[in-house]
Amino acid sequence: MIKEFKTRTGAIYCDTEKKMEYLYVGDYGKENNIKADFLGFKKEINSVPHHDVDLRDKMVVTISTQKGCPMKCMFCDCPKVKFGGNISREELAEEVSNSINYSGCKYTERFNLHLARMGEPSFNADNVLEFLKTDLRNLVNGMMKADTIHPVFTTMLPKGLGKEKLRDIILRFCEIKNVDYSGEAGLQLSINSTDEKQREELFRGMSLTLEEISEICRDLPEPVGRKYTLNFPVTDKTILDPKELTRLFDKEKFIVKITPIHETNEANENGINTPEGYYKYDVYRQFEQPLLEEGWQVIVFIPSKEEDEDRITCGNALLSLEK
Ligand code: SF4
Repeated sequence: MIKEFKTRTGAIYCDTEKKMEYLYVGDYGKENNIKADFLGFKKEINSVPHHDVDLRDKMVVTISTQKGCPMKCMFCDCPKVKFGGNISREELAEEVSNSINYSGCKYTERFNLHLARMGEPSFNADNVLEFLKTDLRNLVNGMMKADTIHPVFTTMLPKGLGKEKLRDIILRFCEIKNVDYSGEAGLQLSINSTDEKQREELFRGMSLTLEEISEICRDLPEPVGRKYTLNFPVTDKTILDPKELTRLFDKEKFIVKITPIHETNEANENGINTPEGYYKYDVYRQFEQPLLEEGWQVIVFIPSKEEDEDRITCGNALLSLEK
């Protein structure tokens, strides 16, 4: 059975038998929810007011790559779903086609696909990468007109795969981004902290060390189009040392993205949150300014309170509430 949960910007779908969860939403527009000086969006965002969205401007589809997740990140509800293995290539297509069908959208300027509802995509790399390379554009173009199709691969850099295997997977995605999509795709690495001990706690010891991630990143090709992204969902306790970041990563290849950590049940239970994060820019200025002074390009992305309440943000899994 597929259950629909309407949200204020789209809808979330839970397939209770196949244990898949996916969603489509619209977006408020960069000028409303992003501060990125290097892109010309310089206004500090003290809160993002909700307003109606139009899927014709941008349609964001977020799908699961696994049924539940074998990682145990301290800020995420997905491990609360009984793990049911990888999602097949056909099922990845089903998540995307159902999202488009249910939305009723026939045209969008920009179609973003995030592999970030449930699961760590690198654990299901063969299906995911083949789907992106071969299936995604045909599938979307067969169902609607999208001026741009932009997939985003986000990884928590799991230790379980081993450094060499993970490097190979990330390199394969870079080729898809840089060659198959001519740069129109995103790679996001979840770094979360520049302090090894803090990372170890947040990822419960299941992510590679910063040194290992840094080694992988040295081997990545120059990005075509957008640079690769280092993700920092922050709390008031986050350690983000710009000098340490410069030692570990290349500013020519990477930008930094700062977001509030989302209010999932797991994050709340573990006391991981960003008080005032949806209302005051002060929370982000303390991280953004030192990075800018160190020469980093920084995007601060803030969802609206409504988006977080509607649980469309990463780390949520409505299936975790199923009995
Ligand atoms: S954040 Fe991603 S990798 Fe971590 S538990 Fe959640 S779904 Fe898995």
